[in-house]
Amino acid sequence: MANLALLKRRNAPQPVTPEVRALDVAGEPQLIGASREELAGHLAAVGVPRHQIAMRVAQLWHWLYVRGVDDLSAMTNVAAPVREALAARLPVGSAEMVEDQISTDGTRKWLLRFPAKGAGRPVEVETVYIPEENRGTLCVSSQVGCTLNCTFCHTGTQRMVRNLTAGEIVEQVVFARRRLGDFVGAERAANGPLEGRMISNVVLMGMGEPLYNFDGVKAAMAVVSDGDGLSLSKRRITLSTSGVVPMISRVGDEMGVLLAISLHAVRDELRDVLVPLNRKYPLAQLMDACRNYPGLSNARRITFEYVMLKGVNDSLEDARALVELIKGIPAKINLIPFNSWPGSDYECSDWDQIEAFADIVNRAGYASPVRTPRGQDILAACGQLKSASEKMSARERRANETAAAAAAAE
Ligand code: SAH
Ligand code: SF4
Repeated sequence: MANLALLKRRNAPQPVTPEVRALDVAGEPQLIGASREELAGHLAAVGVPRHQIAMRVAQLWHWLYVRGVDDLSAMTNVAAPVREALAARLPVGSAEMVEDQISTDGTRKWLLRFPAKGAGRPVEVETVYIPEENRGTLCVSSQVGCTLNCTFCHTGTQRMVRNLTAGEIVEQVVFARRRLGDFVGAERAANGPLEGRMISNVVLMGMGEPLYNFDGVKAAMAVVSDGDGLSLSKRRITLSTSGVVPMISRVGDEMGVLLAISLHAVRDELRDVLVPLNRKYPLAQLMDACRNYPGLSNARRITFEYVMLKGVNDSLEDARALVELIKGIPAKINLIPFNSWPGSDYECSDWDQIEAFADIVNRAGYASPVRTPRGQDILAACGQLKSASEKMSARERRANETAAAAAAAE
């Protein structure tokens, strides 16, 4: 016969331990994006007995990240009182879709709104999905706007800036997977890779500088790559930075994801102008950080992004200097045709010039795919993202529409 006293003791609500309480206070204010420890803290706070917590965490994890459920009441194997108490305490997620645009080439862009934090206002960020035959890439934002004013980038002109929480970063992935029918049992959307997952790759190349939101991005990538949930391999996650040198080795050590560097110039004098952060962390320091990137190998190369700006950084001499600069680093070079935006000062290099540039890089033994601009007609291409968290003036909006119409007509 079961020992009644023991059973009673087991089922009585356990006192919340100090560690759990601490996590609870500082934790994610929503279920999506919370770590297992934070989920444990929330469960403890609503009185779930200690011995049940690991099981309940596993159940929540499964519903959130394998099934993509957005409502606690659908989590049928979680006891109803627990669901109700959790629902009263915090939401599953907080994204609200403001816009859903589909480009003529199948690229999709969603504008998501997240609630205000503290005294701030609600914010809007963009998430872009780029389907190809053999993969589907989701480009996620790490900040609202960006504090670094790279002169060729639209996001850098946006005034309003705040870091996204881990939950808001993870939610972009969960939202997109729901929208694309990429969860167990869902119907797949029309545009996507022929087989495999709709979202096979994640790139932190949306709005913001991910290394100015290191903790949020790190926590989010831990959830996104968790093998019992969203299960994206760290080899299919790429973090792009404009060169926040002191944080680069921590990306390799603590996140273990692939690294992309927004290089764009091979001389300090020019890079100081294009990527003003270069004045703080010049090329020599940046290259040292790349050479010492933890886990760097031929199988885990660094991608150098290089935006092609006509008459600015696209000479063949620049191409040769680029090859020289990265000598010895296992690397790929991604040549990005400049995407223009209303009010930008630059033009994209001529196609012949891009090809001649690529040729020099290729001959030096580097793969250098030219990134085909995607989603230009909906301003979803690299560097075109800018949300209305800063309200657009009527004049800007008209200019935007004209640029989009011109791109669509091309
Ligand atoms: N802040 C990070 C990640 C976001 S930007 C970074 O700078 O790396 C993603 C990529 O788009 C970067 O390589 C960036 O330099 C590039 N980019 C920005 N504006 C662009 C534009 N107008 N045309 C083409 N690429 C652009
Ligand atoms: Fe910020 Fe990257 Fe744009 Fe530079 S290129 S302004 S770092 S988002």
